[in-house]
Amino acid sequence: MIGARHVPLSSAIHDLPRLLLKQDFVAVASFRRNDHEFDALDQVCFAASVRWCAVYPSEDRLVCGPFIAPGSGPCFRCFLRRYLCHHAAPERELCLQRAYKRDPNLGPRGFLASVAWIAGSMLVATAGMSQAEGGRLMEINLFDADFLHTSVVPIHNCSRCRHRVLTRNGDRFVNRLIPSIQSLLA
Ligand SMILES: [Zn+2]
Repeated sequence: MIGARHVPLSSAIHDLPRLLLKQDFVAVASFRRNDHEFDALDQVCFAASVRWCAVYPSEDRLVCGPFIAPGSGPCFRCFLRRYLCHHAAPERELCLQRAYKRDPNLGPRGFLASVAWIAGSMLVATAGMSQAEGGRLMEINLFDADFLHTSVVPIHNCSRCRHRVLTRNGDRFVNRLIPSIQSLLA
């Protein structure tokens, strides 16, 4: 059984450290991806080590993820950078996000009832994921029900989610190079 408290993200955003106290998981259902608020939530979740995930419609798909598990996998900022790198038209996407930031109400108005059920199921499934599954992302095409299950790879040395770095900057490249040039060094 899941005990949950419902709080609108737009009003909770200024009181997140208190609201996240003793919380295990934050599930966000949004009518569109909201990069500004999601990033603010991500920052507080990392500070408090709280797992979180958002579900939102995007074009013809319903997206759930990435599942953010502080300490394992990427942060939301890594996801955004990866997303723009792989997007066919990043300039258009950035333009859209700027318009969304200017007008919080811009975009599709909510979920269809049937899609809300799917969104809820995706979030419940994500809440049950293990820490090691950080970065998992699910997408379902709302026209042909094609399902994508993938994982977001963290950006190297991300200031928010990087794991403890035991080497100096550049060391890992040198260490990889050494075996290749061993004969020259001998
Ligand atoms: Zn990151």
